[in-house]
Formats: sequence, C-alpha cells, structure tokens
Amino acid sequence: TTDCIFCQIADKKIPANIIYEDDLVIAFDDLQPKAPVHKLIIPRQHIATLNDLTPDNSQLIGHMTLVAAQLARELEVDASGYRVLLNCNKDGGQVVFHIHMHLLGGRSLTWPPG
Ligand code: 5GP
Ligand code: ZN
Repeated sequence: TTDCIFCQIADKKIPANIIYEDDLVIAFDDLQPKAPVHKLIIPRQHIATLNDLTPDNSQLIGHMTLVAAQLARELEVDASGYRVLLNCNKDGGQVVFHIHMHLLGGRSLTWPPG
C-alpha cells in the first residue's frame, strides 16, 4: 500500500541496502541493527501482520524462511547460530505493519527475549 514503508522499499521508492530479491521477497539491512547481522526479509505482497496470513500464503512464508537460512549461510552465521522471528502486534513489538522476518546473528542472543 502507498503509505507502507516496506511496500515503498520493495518498490524502490525509498532506499534500503537490498541484499537479496526475487519474484516473491526482498531482503535488506535493518536501519537500526540489534546485532552484527540484522536483516529483514519481506514479501513483495503487502500483508499487515502474521494474523493476516492465509493458507494461500503457505508457500510464501516457507520461501521467506528458506531465504533467511540461505542468507545466514552467505553471511556465515549458519554454524555459529542465528535467530529468525516475526513480531506480531503490540505485545510482540511490531512497529511496521507489513510482515517481515528478522534475521539476527553475529553475537550470542539472549533467551528469552525481553
Ligand atoms: P518490528 O518491530 O516491526 O518487528 O521491526 C521493524 C524493524 O524495521 C525495526 O527493526 C526497524 O529498525 C526497521 N525499520 C523501520 N523502518 C525502517 C526503514 O525505513 N528502513 C529499514 N531498512 N529498516 C527499518
Ligand atoms: Zn506494505
């Protein structure tokens, strides 16, 4: 949608350091990285939250996960380890309402998250 910052990144209307893209998804550096590796993987399609996923999106979300794992290999955090997650709504800490998978790595991540 036109007022969505991640749709605008996907449409190249606002800049981002894009590290991967294909027909379904685009991946780029998080603007305020929380770890040495902090990438976001988003669908080109605007889906506001995880609650809005439907069975039609099964292949899409699976693809996002595979892209995250591939990027982890390319960024050489696959062996040391990493975290892939989606935040949903207020308690989940979601601030951008276009689903995005965080790929975090390059340091020891604490568990549970805050
Ligand atoms: P959320 O809290 O919604 O799961 O995560 C949103 C993420 O998007 C945050 O980590 C934030 O730093 C990142 N972000 C917000 N606006 C922009 C932007 O304009 N460009 C990029 N590259 N990242 C952004
Ligand atoms: Zn969007």
